[in-house]
Amino acid sequence: QKAEWAKLVNEPTVSADGHHVELAANIGTPADLEGVRNNGGEAVGLYRTEFLYMGRTELPTEDEQFESYKAVLEGMKGKPVVVRTLDIGGDKELPYLDLPHEMNPFLGFRAIRLCLEEQDMFRVQLRALLRASEYGNLKIMFPMISNLDEFRQAKAILLEEKELLVEKGVNVSSEIEVGIMVEIPSTAVLADQFAKEVDFFSIGTNDLIQYTMAADRMNERISYLYQPYNPAILRLVKMVIDAAHKEGKWAGMCGEMAGDEIAIPILLGLGLDEFSMSATSILPARTQIRQLSKEDMKKLADEVLQLTTNDEVMTAVKKAIKL
Ligand code: PEP
Ligand code: MG
Repeated sequence: QKAEWAKLVNEPTVSADGHHVELAANIGTPADLEGVRNNGGEAVGLYRTEFLYMGRTELPTEDEQFESYKAVLEGMKGKPVVVRTLDIGGDKELPYLDLPHEMNPFLGFRAIRLCLEEQDMFRVQLRALLRASEYGNLKIMFPMISNLDEFRQAKAILLEEKELLVEKGVNVSSEIEVGIMVEIPSTAVLADQFAKEVDFFSIGTNDLIQYTMAADRMNERISYLYQPYNPAILRLVKMVIDAAHKEGKWAGMCGEMAGDEIAIPILLGLGLDEFSMSATSILPARTQIRQLSKEDMKKLADEVLQLTTNDEVMTAVKKAIKL
């Protein structure tokens, strides 16, 4: 099987009936690029920049960050690179920020919420990204967006920093797309409004499932409630994809679900444009998609969206694609 997969490293990802989708990789550091190349990643769909900030005693400088972003953009040779701005908090702590202890860290002061308040820190990251933008195809993504004010504020700060750099004569790409993670149900529900203002969506199912099911993604005791195929989740995913397409934007997914063999047929049928996953899942996913007809998967998706439970969906997909 490994040999079969290896043949597809340089092949595009095309369904049996000729529809192309993009298979991208989730990375945490520039060193992960080797795995992306070896596994035929067509893009970086999620660069988790938290790792730049973790395992140290103070914030990374603008130049340090610039070097990492530049390395990833150059390493991808013009292919898309979606960089997510700092998503700290929840399960990811930064001791040197000295944040107060919270009862519910996953519902607390984290990610974009923290960045909009600690703006100096946020601006350093944005400047590093803007300066790196001339070295490749950069897309900037904000995490944990829960309402449009947050997106508008974050984008305004980005544009401010861009103008300041341009005034100083720094080269900044004029093609940077600016998008959001859709990982909070309020944002999925309002995707039609968001789609008028963002350049793209990337659905973060790891958190979207946790918040929709009210089930802590780290809590083993209730892991049975962590239900990726629950029609409630699938309907939210559909709303997001449809909203993007209605405004001529693209929709990706960078949660674990994007590389899952039960979810992939449904997501293909729903019209997902980009699937971002751990590098080692890319070739198996490409192999699977090449055997699926998007038209057939559209029918399957319509069907499973009308089912009532996670298990019913799982059984229906397995039957349809003979897993
Ligand atoms: C997600 O929430 O689905 C996601 C991709 O982000 P993270 O796992 O880093 O929270
Ligand atoms: Mg998340």
